[in-house]
Amino acid sequence: MLWQTLRGLFSKFAWHLSPDGTMHPDYEAVIGLEVHAQLKTRTKAFCGCSAEFGAPPNTHTCPVCLGHPGALPVLNRQVVEFTLRIGLATHCQIRLRSLFARKNYFYPDLPKGYQISQYEEPICSDGWIDIELDDGTVKRVGIARIHMEEDAGKSIHDVDVDTLVDLNRCGVPLIEIVSKPDLRSPREAYHYMRQIRQLVRYLGICDGNLEEGSLRCDANVSVRRRGETRLGTKTEVKNLNSFRNLERALEYEIQRQIAILEAGGQVQHETRLWDAVRQETRPMRTKEFAHDYRYFPEPDLVPVVVTEEWIERVRAELPELPLQRKQRLVQQYGLPAYDAGVLCEEREIADYFEACCAALQNPAPERYKLVSNWIMTEVLRIVGERGGMLQPMPLPPEHLAELIELYAEDVISSRIAKEVFAEAVATGKSPRALVAERGLVQVSDTAWLRQLVEQVLVEHPDAVARYRSGRTNVLGFLVGQVLQRSGGRANPKLVTQLLQEQLQVQESPTAQ
Ligand SMILES: [Zn+2]
Repeated sequence: MLWQTLRGLFSKFAWHLSPDGTMHPDYEAVIGLEVHAQLKTRTKAFCGCSAEFGAPPNTHTCPVCLGHPGALPVLNRQVVEFTLRIGLATHCQIRLRSLFARKNYFYPDLPKGYQISQYEEPICSDGWIDIELDDGTVKRVGIARIHMEEDAGKSIHDVDVDTLVDLNRCGVPLIEIVSKPDLRSPREAYHYMRQIRQLVRYLGICDGNLEEGSLRCDANVSVRRRGETRLGTKTEVKNLNSFRNLERALEYEIQRQIAILEAGGQVQHETRLWDAVRQETRPMRTKEFAHDYRYFPEPDLVPVVVTEEWIERVRAELPELPLQRKQRLVQQYGLPAYDAGVLCEEREIADYFEACCAALQNPAPERYKLVSNWIMTEVLRIVGERGGMLQPMPLPPEHLAELIELYAEDVISSRIAKEVFAEAVATGKSPRALVAERGLVQVSDTAWLRQLVEQVLVEHPDAVARYRSGRTNVLGFLVGQVLQRSGGRANPKLVTQLLQEQLQVQESPTAQ
């Protein structure tokens, strides 16, 4: 009986899943994301305690962040500065006077019994951000608001000793970025989240580390029949701690809601938790409404006042934003969009690319592309091996530029270039100095190379026969043999040319 019910439910559910995971054609999803970003300030939002991640538990605490009676919070100016950066970068209206509010709720890792947040008058509202979709089109997503608040501590559920509480995170500054419900698919939500991560990193306000929880995301999602303008009942999905989980959880939740509606049911307004192990969302609690929190203006803090001068100073200091920069790299350097995307993923990498290009003595689009190739392969490989550490870069931009010019001007072969690269990274010496020191200059001495070619042809009669029978791809093998004999110093273009000449001479009946 139970089995039949389960199977019935399952087949009903499966019916709404098309094989490629796309949505039921009659429905559309409406998604809005709430992203919490931990600000990279030195100290906490309302006290002088260090905000650094990873200290021994409960060592970064004081009466203010522990919520002792009578202790008074004082706002960290840097929190406002950072919030202005993202507010201006996302084209928000900035409130010259905004308020903090108390959001009351009980949690074991929230000693005050309330969180200082902003409610009715957030500092930033009504902005937008452009995101790039898979096909390269740009979509504008509205930002409803960005407000400042503080983080709670952390409960650690240890199987051996029960639950432990670490209050180091209490009072660490956060911003909450609330999008408008403008996203229509899990993939769009994914691109939005990536764009937000890239943006906060470019702005230098958050390290964007999802694993350590410095960037967190909750998703509000509902579905409705296409053509419908009214919003369906939404659920809030929590615990989306990776880009993959965000996308998967939304896919699951959308299908779940469609299945309920198709079966004539109603979606419950509730908070659901993504279970990454079981790949499903499950109910956590019925969703609280704003009035449950008994918000009221925070009596311990004065209103936040920002001046026009402050705003204009922050605006003037904003860096070029990731998407603009990507478009500029394509324009200015003639790079493929793919390359520009990889290079702009991190601001430091894009800076490095441009510094290398600036260091080229004979700049040209082919050389820009070579710079891009070397960064995307060799440089990023080393960065990856160093655990993603971008500073300092493996070698100074002048050195990479020098190496690329040595290669582009046929002074060294690609094989030698890789050796020189490794050595330049290891020793810090300039590629030009290394090439001179070790006599690695590519040999274009035709007489010597012709000797090597002849030796190789004599030693490999089989390869020669295969070449003559029309299997000319054996040429690569022969070139490799000659290069090997030359210790990697032979100019491969010249070797190829000499080999072809020799093979044709031997092949041609008139030459016999
Ligand atoms: Zn403190």
